[in-house]
Amino acid sequence: MGKLIVGKPLSRLPAILAGYVGPQTKVMVVADSAIANRHGRSLVTGLRNAGFDAALTVVPAGERSKTLAQADRLYRELARRRFERQSILIALGGGVVGDLTGFVAATFLRGIKLVQVPTTLLAQVDAAIGGKTGVDIPEGKNLVGAFYHPLFVWIDPLLLKTLPLRHWKNGLAEVIKYGVIRDAGLFERLECRIDHLVKGYSTEWAPIIARCAQIKAEVVKQDPFETTGRRAILNFGHSIGHAIEAAAGYRDYLHGEAIAVGMVVAGRLSENMTGFKSSDRSRLDSLLRRAGLPLEARRPISRRRIFEFLARDKKTQDGAVKFVLLRKLGKAVSGQQVDKQSLVDALAVSDL
Ligand code: NAD
Repeated sequence: MGKLIVGKPLSRLPAILAGYVGPQTKVMVVADSAIANRHGRSLVTGLRNAGFDAALTVVPAGERSKTLAQADRLYRELARRRFERQSILIALGGGVVGDLTGFVAATFLRGIKLVQVPTTLLAQVDAAIGGKTGVDIPEGKNLVGAFYHPLFVWIDPLLLKTLPLRHWKNGLAEVIKYGVIRDAGLFERLECRIDHLVKGYSTEWAPIIARCAQIKAEVVKQDPFETTGRRAILNFGHSIGHAIEAAAGYRDYLHGEAIAVGMVVAGRLSENMTGFKSSDRSRLDSLLRRAGLPLEARRPISRRRIFEFLARDKKTQDGAVKFVLLRKLGKAVSGQQVDKQSLVDALAVSDL
């Protein structure tokens, strides 16, 4: 699994990269249109000054770029520029650029070198770590992909200064998840400081991002290719969250917003099934509310559709949906089978 380099300014990346690969190596920075001018051009200049044969390519911002068509455009650009196995792709952006670029790196010439430079909170604490890469097809999100680990993940929280607030809260949902599943101290810190943290970047964020990235890396290290089930606890709130995103046609909810509702439902199931204290369940709901995240469906979503998408979930095994539930704050257990009526009852509280 690639190393995490946390808290160093992006301007230092070229010098560090030079320690991994030879001089004059070809490097392509892939950035989306929101990031290219802010950070992409200066990164390319820094790479060239450090002796790399560097170029920038820009993809349109947003999920619509996570396609085979964009991957194809990148493959052809790499081929025209005569990229080789030792050449490097740098994904500079949010989860969309990270997933797309990672997939291209995994598949061009059966694998070229990759560096992840996440620029959204969601990507810094989650998407860029763990080696999952991929693109969407009309039949579903992330259906085509590969596990492919980068040389390193460069996490510079200063890059988040310009992140729009809605995307900030989107990542905050994952941050809360890490506290809930693995670190009660982190959860308490978030409870104390949420009114400040929710406003966006401040220096207070750096150690929180570092802790979340470390938790993700620790879990992934135990199960780098998602084969043993040990990675499953990262999916707290995600089964329902993914079903909500899909049932709403990927329009009404960002990922973190949908998993916030999913965490509320999973909190209720945990209270009923795994001994999660009612008072702690209220604390989770309250933290999500104070973080500006939704606790219930924004518009009616057909329950039948939710069940349909749950059944299709990649994490479903032998037709049974297994949930990650909580024993207490900081302690999650995976593989919990939930009967249909309990699920219907828990969903109803969130208007689902
Ligand atoms: P995103 O990449 O679309 O970025 C969100 C928006 O923020 C975009 O408009 C982008 O242009 C803009 N942006 C990015 N960085 C910015 C900055 N520093 N300042 C200003 N604007 C900035 O979305 P995301 O939420 O980062 O990622 C979502 C994607 O991640 C989804 O496709 C999801 O499937 C994927 N994902 C992957 C994993 C994984 O393990 N690979 C995990 C979670 C999510």
